[in-house]
Amino acid sequence: MDFQLTDEQQQLVELAERLGRDVFAPKAARWDRNHEYPHENVEVLRQAGLLGMTIPRRFGGAERPLIDAVLAIETIARYCGVTARIVVETNMGALGCVMAYGTEAQQRETARRILAEGDKPAIGMTEPGAGTDLTALRTTATERDGHYVIHGTKHWITGGGISRTNLVFARIVDAGGADQGIGGILVDLGTPGFTIGRVEDAMGLRGIPEAELIFDGCRVPAANLVVRDPKDGFKKLMNGYNAQRVGASSVALGLAQGAHDLAVDYLCRREAFGRRLKDFQGLEWLMAESEIALEAMRLLIYRAACNARPLANNVMLPQMKDASIAKAFSGHTAFEVVSESLQMFGAAGYSRDLPLERMLRDVRMFQIGGGTSQAQLNMIARGLFAGR
Ligand SMILES: Cc1cc2nc3c(=O)[nH]c(=O)nc-3n(C[C@H](O)[C@H](O)[C@H](O)COP(=O)(O)OP(=O)(O)OC[C@H]3O[C@@H](n4cnc5c(N)ncnc54)[C@H](O)[C@@H]3O)c2cc1C
Repeated sequence: MDFQLTDEQQQLVELAERLGRDVFAPKAARWDRNHEYPHENVEVLRQAGLLGMTIPRRFGGAERPLIDAVLAIETIARYCGVTARIVVETNMGALGCVMAYGTEAQQRETARRILAEGDKPAIGMTEPGAGTDLTALRTTATERDGHYVIHGTKHWITGGGISRTNLVFARIVDAGGADQGIGGILVDLGTPGFTIGRVEDAMGLRGIPEAELIFDGCRVPAANLVVRDPKDGFKKLMNGYNAQRVGASSVALGLAQGAHDLAVDYLCRREAFGRRLKDFQGLEWLMAESEIALEAMRLLIYRAACNARPLANNVMLPQMKDASIAKAFSGHTAFEVVSESLQMFGAAGYSRDLPLERMLRDVRMFQIGGGTSQAQLNMIARGLFAGR
């Protein structure tokens, strides 16, 4: 077991650090205030090779291991959570599912769009009536004349309306009307019968739209089906999604580290009662507790990424238990760390003049999106008591 970064990883972190500090941090407040997608950051990431860095070489990617993507995401999130999330969604999420279970043509085209166009694929699972209980989803994709005809509504889909590639979870119905279970199907933005509905007025991470995807008789070629397995389709898609959970945890960690760094700096400068704040033991101990929390999150996330194993198509995907532990722990721990960091600033921390309040709103998401903390605990407990 080696906890040292390789020279290549060190260079990657330095690149992400430089971009984060010099390019992404100065405009991070703008995306939040204006509810604006950072297109210009996407192009910077693309040119720096940070989009799709896990994509296999045969599709033009750098085929970097998951841990490298985690390092880049964590570093960028210290400066801009929204931009870090784009790195997640172009290295994990829908991409993980397509790379593990898609056809060669689907893999090639999804990779091309990310690497050449900066497309950030969206993953459409949640519906108004199916969140944690995803198996209750009602969207259907019915086979007809070499096509699938999709009906249904998704909501809270990250990048809805921005993402050209949309991996939509649906109940697959074959030409004879038989239910084939839950599968995933690729739908391009702009396909007739696919419209964008309500865009949420979200609390945080406001630079990426969270939108409703509405399918009303939307026809896509049958070749767009990613997973069709009446027995295991849902399980496969969820396996693919484990990488996304590790990526989301890395954003939470990065936001917490960024807030903590700001607090350390402030405690060294601010004075009260004739001393610098850093010299009050009560505050020192709080900061030391946060330091422990950050290291513990880091170990769990790095372990989940390094423990990734080849599942389907030789794609390295994290184990469900590792991913759920990392996400459940980092979701609430990162929130605590950002909240304690904000506290160090007194009233200034509560102002929009500083990034702390934005970071607190952003980091709250990771206890909900990508499967709530309770859903992660359920999955961990299910493994714990399996067969007992
Ligand atoms: C910012 C953001 C981005 C998102 N992006 C996407 C996306 O890109 N794609 C996508 O498909 N979805 C996305 N989502 C949706 C997200 O995955 C769901 O919100 C989440 O899975 C919870 O579903 P729900 O909101 O319907 O809550 P519900 O499932 O209704 O849950 C409500 C509460 O009950 C708890 N609960 C439910 N069932 C149980 C149980 N069995 N045991 C214990 N507690 C339980 C939950 O933990 C939660 O606290 C996003 C959400 C947010 C906030």
